[in-house]
Amino acid sequence: MSEIIVPSPADFHVHLRQGKMATLVTPHVRNGGFSLAYVMPNLKPPVTTTAQALAYKAELESIDSSVEYLMTLYLSPDLTPEEVVKAKEAGIAGVKSYPRGVTTNSDGGIESYEMYYPVFEAMQRVDMVLNLHGEVPSDAKTNTHILNAEPKFLTHLHALHKAFPRLRIVLEHATTRAAVDAVKACGPTVACTITAHHLELTVDDWAGQSFNFCKPVAKYPDDREALRQVIRDGHPRFFLGSDSAPHPVHSKSTSTPTQGCAAGIYTSPILLPLVAHLLESFDALDKLEGFVSTFGRCFYRRELSAENTSNVVLRKIDGHVVEGKYGADEESVVPFWAGKEINWKIVTN
Ligand SMILES: [Zn+2]
Repeated sequence: MSEIIVPSPADFHVHLRQGKMATLVTPHVRNGGFSLAYVMPNLKPPVTTTAQALAYKAELESIDSSVEYLMTLYLSPDLTPEEVVKAKEAGIAGVKSYPRGVTTNSDGGIESYEMYYPVFEAMQRVDMVLNLHGEVPSDAKTNTHILNAEPKFLTHLHALHKAFPRLRIVLEHATTRAAVDAVKACGPTVACTITAHHLELTVDDWAGQSFNFCKPVAKYPDDREALRQVIRDGHPRFFLGSDSAPHPVHSKSTSTPTQGCAAGIYTSPILLPLVAHLLESFDALDKLEGFVSTFGRCFYRRELSAENTSNVVLRKIDGHVVEGKYGADEESVVPFWAGKEINWKIVTN
């Protein structure tokens, strides 16, 4: 196989930031082969209202209007059932929940889910998607840390699914075999995104290497194998959400005894060729279309018709070296795989 045609790839989890950073990274969605971006709301301040989400969408469209942006709200005590109805009417697709303090800009995140049941009830009724950052905060008293934070979260997933069986839920950026098994065990309303980088990295790759550091952290080789296998299986409730998360190069590369490096891996500019390269490396290239286009679009009810499909053509090449960085000065970002070779490139986008 030397050429692959992929219909309208969709990235169901991406961080496009604000201001200068948004101007730099938003066009990379399209450059990376994607025509739909499911946009995360963890800005400063977080996107908590319909009005904010629509203003953010307009900002993104003014940067690159060739991409369809699906917007989300940040789950917080300010979100009411009334606002959920308003958001749905305005075309906002989902609500993202961050446990407090576990990742970038999550200081306003949730501590317990029960208080949000009226909001989830409204979401179930109007059919909005709940996107879960599936980690519990670290806590020495219960031996909770970044390596078991995701497995420990899965009881919340099951409880939410049981309480709201018709609520569509996405467990975001799964990194463990336990998470894959948990999502498989749920009904058709529960799906799961997988990033490109978690198909490659394990614990050994980020310990001591800040550019491979993200939350949730990459886990053990057996966990990575579970992510790869569910893609090989062509399971329709597992699809790409890149969690592409740009941070200025200085916040990634400069850690001090009192200031750690930022968590996040940036894949947008190389995303489709990278995913093809990785899937080929573990014999899943024939599942590329399902993983990056059909499965997620089906779950989110953004199916393609003849009129709205734009085909992206990938060609096999000998090895294309990934850029060392994008942008200049303070705002530059270093992509995942920088300086390494990818064996696929986009020839029609
Ligand atoms: Zn994310």
